[in-house]
Amino acid sequence: MSDDGPERGDRLEALGRAIARFNADRAWGPFHTPRDLAMALCIESSELLELFLWKREGEIPGRERLEEELGDVVICMMNLAAKLGVDPIAAATAKLVKNAAKYPVAAAHGRATKWDELAAEAGADRGEARPEGEDDGTAAAR
Ligand SMILES: [Mg+2]
Repeated sequence: MSDDGPERGDRLEALGRAIARFNADRAWGPFHTPRDLAMALCIESSELLELFLWKREGEIPGRERLEEELGDVVICMMNLAAKLGVDPIAAATAKLVKNAAKYPVAAAHGRATKWDELAAEAGADRGEARPEGEDDGTAAAR
């Protein structure tokens, strides 16, 4: 099985059907509002993050707990995507294309620099200096 061939999509679709069946068997549809599903996704992501809390640099949590929390994140993502009618593979593929434009290989290779800083560097390379003190709106978010 390849990593990105049609088999992967078939497995994701099968997972989506299994999740839908799981939810239907429990009549959980009324609880699955977009707001609550988005919150559940963030909460499960936090549970994944919690596994790394207070660990030493490079220390990896136990495999079983990691797989459980990653599984929860995927289930919540699939529930939210289904509720909103979003194809998660199409959405991720489209975002990958956008990210490729934001992170050109020549500028981003081997660097963990945020896209706006890469863009500013590219602008500076072209002689387009950002005015002193100009905030592009991302400074407060960092
Ligand atoms: Mg969990």
